[in-house]
Amino acid sequence: MTQSPALHDNRCPADDLTEFIYLDYAATTPLCREAADALGRGLLLFGNPSSRHSAGQAAHEALDAARAQVAALLGCPPAEVVFTGGGSEAISLAMRGTFAPLRWRGHLVTTAIEHSAVLESAAALRRRGVDVTVVAPEPSGHIDPARVAAAIRNDTVLVSVMHANNETGAIQPVQHITELVHAAGRLMHVDAVQTAGKLPIDTMTADMVSISAHKFGGPKGVGALRLSARHHIEPLVCGGGQEDGRRAGTENLPGVLGMAAAAVVAAPRLHDPAYRQQRWHLRTRLLQHLSALDDTHVNATDPVMAETISVSFAGVRADTVADILDTHGVCVSTGSACHAGQDSPSHVLTAMGISDERSRATLRYSFGPATTDADIDAAARATIAAVNQLRRVSGHRRPATVRPAEAAGAH
Ligand code: PLP
Repeated sequence: MTQSPALHDNRCPADDLTEFIYLDYAATTPLCREAADALGRGLLLFGNPSSRHSAGQAAHEALDAARAQVAALLGCPPAEVVFTGGGSEAISLAMRGTFAPLRWRGHLVTTAIEHSAVLESAAALRRRGVDVTVVAPEPSGHIDPARVAAAIRNDTVLVSVMHANNETGAIQPVQHITELVHAAGRLMHVDAVQTAGKLPIDTMTADMVSISAHKFGGPKGVGALRLSARHHIEPLVCGGGQEDGRRAGTENLPGVLGMAAAAVVAAPRLHDPAYRQQRWHLRTRLLQHLSALDDTHVNATDPVMAETISVSFAGVRADTVADILDTHGVCVSTGSACHAGQDSPSHVLTAMGISDERSRATLRYSFGPATTDADIDAAARATIAAVNQLRRVSGHRRPATVRPAEAAGAH
């Protein structure tokens, strides 16, 4: 990666050693320098935050300060932040923790484009007796709030909708949906794992919001659930009374300090128009380059996250393209990282009505604060060469031209 401007510089020590162009930020992000420093500090603060002595109190104070910093990202009082072992655990805690005290009775509404952490939690709830309704997306990749409202029944307890999709970047109208859900007197959970640290989430009024540190420059295996003081859940992990009885176990102080440091680094970017404009510049630049290829299609229309781009290249296997790009030092992904390597088409693209063939021809490019024009140019050049080469070999014929829908548009 080449150098980027100071405010947007989220480079970590590891960046200086990398020889590849990393465009898979939706899977995970490089650790930012501040988070690396905070992790080190947390390792040295060895006291148990629950201990009364000075070593314990020093750890406790650091934990409190980190909680306040993560609360600022989430826009909630520090007492509403429950630290977890990542996004999947936060989501499981929100969903299972809500239905456990109800002895697994009631109804859940979620959507077909959720991450497997939500969908598998929903499947586990269904096996225990919870009724589940899965709302389909529009072909654009968005969830229609009216469809969610129509799915709410007398026995609905919880609605869970993601803020932005991890494969397409489509931003969901979660605040509108939250208002409808609250008007019906139900609970709302938002999986904000893809947007925390990238888009503002501090004005959300959902009862529960899940985030994960490694998606915004923090370490892996640590996340948080914003849990409204009004809502009581049953913990998944039982033991001591840590996290106010909501998640037992001695706290992962290094991880939590790393996450808080990454949240502080991300904060100024969230409301910086120049940074947002730079994101759209990179997106438009990539799509403009890729418009040199016929018969390509951008999955998901506005509103989308600038930094996540899902493109299908007819006539090729995306996993083969990704492997070729990897040999050129360009890291991209086919669908979500959790399902990479599986041959089944993406459940997200299938739910949007996209054919299996087009789904298997889809690459996801996702970029972050350290990404430069030069990275985008090199990735596009390598993609164009790989797709042209594979199309020549397979004898793919050019149909009537369909170019990336947004390529000509500016944001
Ligand atoms: N939700 C979404 C939308 C995600 O993209 C991910 C990770 O890819 C998760 C949840 C799970 O987060 P974690 O990897 O921290 O368990």
